[in-house]
Amino acid sequence: MTDSGDRIPDPRFGRPHVVLLGAGASLAAFPNGDRRGKRLPLMNNLIDVLELGSLLDRHGIAHKGVNFEALYSGLVTSGQHPDVIRAIEASVFSYFHGMRLPDHPTIYDHLVLSLRPKDFIATFNWDPFLEQAIQRNYVDRRVQPPHIACLHGCVSLGYCDRHKPLTFGKANMNCLRCGEEVKGMRLLYPVTQKNYNADPHTIAAWQDTQMVMRHAYLFTVFGYSAPTTDVEAVRLLKEAWGDPSKRELEQVEVIDIRAFEDLEKTWSPFVLREHWEVHHSFYHSWIARHPRRSCEAFFNATMMCAPESERPIPRELGFPELWKWYQPMIDQENEYEAKRAAEDHHQGVTEATQ
Ligand SMILES: [Zn+2]
Repeated sequence: MTDSGDRIPDPRFGRPHVVLLGAGASLAAFPNGDRRGKRLPLMNNLIDVLELGSLLDRHGIAHKGVNFEALYSGLVTSGQHPDVIRAIEASVFSYFHGMRLPDHPTIYDHLVLSLRPKDFIATFNWDPFLEQAIQRNYVDRRVQPPHIACLHGCVSLGYCDRHKPLTFGKANMNCLRCGEEVKGMRLLYPVTQKNYNADPHTIAAWQDTQMVMRHAYLFTVFGYSAPTTDVEAVRLLKEAWGDPSKRELEQVEVIDIRAFEDLEKTWSPFVLREHWEVHHSFYHSWIARHPRRSCEAFFNATMMCAPESERPIPRELGFPELWKWYQPMIDQENEYEAKRAAEDHHQGVTEATQ
């Protein structure tokens, strides 16, 4: 703690905070299920949660105690049962498509409100929660939400590629640029050969993620276990982050409930030991302790030896109060941007008249 009191640090960082979400993030956000109590499945219980057992029994496919990842990739590799694969995919799509955020603020709401337009969230999750959280928190906020990329597709989002660059929107709505219907995103299922180059949306999502990761100052991995069928994903992420020994100023934080030894196995090739930290809860992360100022707070603590007072997300607040709590930070960002634009303009005029 310092004498900075309640002062909000200036939003002077241009470099992004990049967040990567896996299935564990959605499970942490909704341990008791969605608004109607629909449970969030993981790979090891997806067959039970989605009640796929009778379909598999009818086709004589063993599934007791089998992980969905192993079952699905086994079916695809065998080349048998194309009808079963189609039926599984239809069930998965409709299950996730029907999920809704609860009425009260959740981790997803706190996450999207605590990042700025320069920041970036890449998600492996098919569920619609990120998109729903952005929708309900960024209406009338007088600021853009953080960017998002759906690395394995999303049930509620689509894209239009009738022009360049692509535009994104809600699935089944019309494109804001050309008025044609937006195409639904392809969901990428757990097989080793996912082919990230098979459609324009997935190519763009990966290109954006890799580009922004090269510039990231903080990188948070939340609830992503890097399963064996994601070797290519991990390779692409590592390639973008680059040689860990050259990223001595940056920090990786992992939010995960797994044992430290497991996490170390997954992430140690990625980062230098002294440049990563592990939290068991989202609310202990830099994002949640320094909302909308995570990079500034980390920089001040590590480079300036001047740690900021924590301004933790007030988890107990309902929506109107929560939005009111964030507003002074957003106002400060808008003032800061306006001042910078005026200075740039002034400099331009001075140069033009010299
Ligand atoms: Zn279009």
